[in-house]
Amino acid sequence: MEPAAARGNSAQAATRHTRLDRWFERVLGDHGPQHFGSGWFSGLIGLLLSLGSFCAVLVFQFPEWLTTADLRAGYPVEFMRGALTLAIVAGFFFSALNIILRPSKKLGLAGLFFAALAVIAGGDGVEVDWHGPAPVNLGLDWLVLNVVLLSLVFVPLERLFPHRPEQGTFRAGWTTDGLYFVVSHVLVELLTFFTLLPATVVSQAWQAAALGAQVASLPLWVQVPLIMLVADLTQYWVHRFFHRNRLAWPFHAIHHSSRAMDWLAGSRLHVVDVILTRGLILVPLFVLGFAREALYVWLAIVAAQATFIHVNMRFRFRWIEQLLVTPRFHHWHHAESPIDKNFAVHFPWIDRLFGTYYMPADRWPDEVGIHGDPVPEEFLAQMVWPVRTIAKEGR
Ligand SMILES: [Zn+2]
Ligand SMILES: [Zn+2]
Repeated sequence: MEPAAARGNSAQAATRHTRLDRWFERVLGDHGPQHFGSGWFSGLIGLLLSLGSFCAVLVFQFPEWLTTADLRAGYPVEFMRGALTLAIVAGFFFSALNIILRPSKKLGLAGLFFAALAVIAGGDGVEVDWHGPAPVNLGLDWLVLNVVLLSLVFVPLERLFPHRPEQGTFRAGWTTDGLYFVVSHVLVELLTFFTLLPATVVSQAWQAAALGAQVASLPLWVQVPLIMLVADLTQYWVHRFFHRNRLAWPFHAIHHSSRAMDWLAGSRLHVVDVILTRGLILVPLFVLGFAREALYVWLAIVAAQATFIHVNMRFRFRWIEQLLVTPRFHHWHHAESPIDKNFAVHFPWIDRLFGTYYMPADRWPDEVGIHGDPVPEEFLAQMVWPVRTIAKEGR
């Protein structure tokens, strides 16, 4: 660790909490220890499961409004009901454990409240009432699945193998990233619609039918790496454009504004960045005619990798680092200096090919973020900041 004085402004920014961070701290925070056995983890898991169960009961009650059409078709309802029963029981159990173990009972009481609310709202006995398709689909099911699964995996892992142990789960700006996470999952259908638009239009106008049939007939284990390669080549140049173009950069600067890297930080992406980047990546994939199953496998890989490369975890990957993008590689992409390195998200050797590779042996960046912190810290302010910045520059 370097001395605090040497870290200057950046360290101050890293400890600056947003208003929403401070609200959560007031309502649920206590200044107690957070190690295993202190009741902190049980409180957190209890609250997560209880709140998740309550949302899941709402999803069962109003499936036409609160489920994602693509997921809905594939749900094993009885299995989900079993998972809900388990989650409610575990929610009660861990919240009670928090109350027994910890002097401050805030987390445990909040957990018991939502677990009780889940039971009152119908619990695991709730009938799935389908009233026909609703005009709007919110992906509450998608959100609950992702929040519960990802935080159960990554919160303990980041505690056990931290790259920056001092950072903590509820570091400055976590609510801003959390809001990006919530909004991008709840509005998944809307985002998917806009993301698919360019690829659908282009591939309808220009179909490489003969080539498509050949590509789609390749075995899955050939198609998936090919998709990763084509997608990352497109992603590399779109990403590089976002960094080097004066008018595009403010939209992508949002992603780089975070002063802390963890599993949640990757969610911080402006909607214009998301739609343009993902939309353009899909164009060659659709034109080349990859099979639907191969695209789904790749989507799962890219979602997992996008989360993973931001984590606050230190592993030694050795030679794998040369082949696949790892957290250390992408943390250097977020470094305050040097900038404009490591644009790839699947294969680091793409950056070698185009001269932007940067991986000093065994080192991690001292600071991540943008020098001078030009981007505001609150979610809503970040939505409008790029437009305002560009308008100002134009004057
Ligand atoms: Zn970038
Ligand atoms: Zn990133």
